[in-house]
Order: sequence, then C-alpha cells, then structure tokens
Amino acid sequence: MNCPKCKSAHKIKRGILNRKQRYCCKSCGYHYTVMRKKTAKPDAMKKQALHLYLEGLGFRAIGRMLGVSHVSVYRWIKKFGETLDSVKSNGNR
Ligand SMILES: [Zn+2]
Repeated sequence: MNCPKCKSAHKIKRGILNRKQRYCCKSCGYHYTVMRKKTAKPDAMKKQALHLYLEGLGFRAIGRMLGVSHVSVYRWIKKFGETLDSVKSNGNR
C-alpha cells in the first residue's frame, strides 16, 4: 500500500501497532497503518466455526464448509476451548 496522502510508495516501517504495520511516508512524512497480510480470518467466521462444532460437526467438515483448512478450525476451537467447555457443560445440565 502506498501513502494515502501523496500516493508515494517510499515508506519506512515504524513498527507494529495493534497488529497493523505502521509506516512513515518518506516523501511527505505522513504516518499511516496498514493491516498486515490477511492471513487472519474474520471473527464472524470463527464464531460460525465454533457454532458448527457445537452442532457436532468435525474440524474437516467445518473447514470444507467455510473454505479454510481444518487446522485453522482446530486452532480456533482450541482457542475457544475454555468458553467451549462451559458452554458444553451448561448444555448437558
Ligand atoms: Zn506521503
């Protein structure tokens, strides 16, 4: 991404802020941030994956439905693990 102010491609990396790459434009000195490469999936998709998991679907099935790898799905579910356990135990009661 080029500078939003002067469209110059000359920029200096100024570290990362809130998971965004921060740049300083070499031409006009303008500071701006750019989202880092979009490897992260939106939260909505993660929530959907979690929901499908609670519905009893496997990681691979969820991955196929959402168009992501089952490894990603597994990571999300694992991350939600604690919440998930409480959700599940509440459902069983
Ligand atoms: Zn600029």
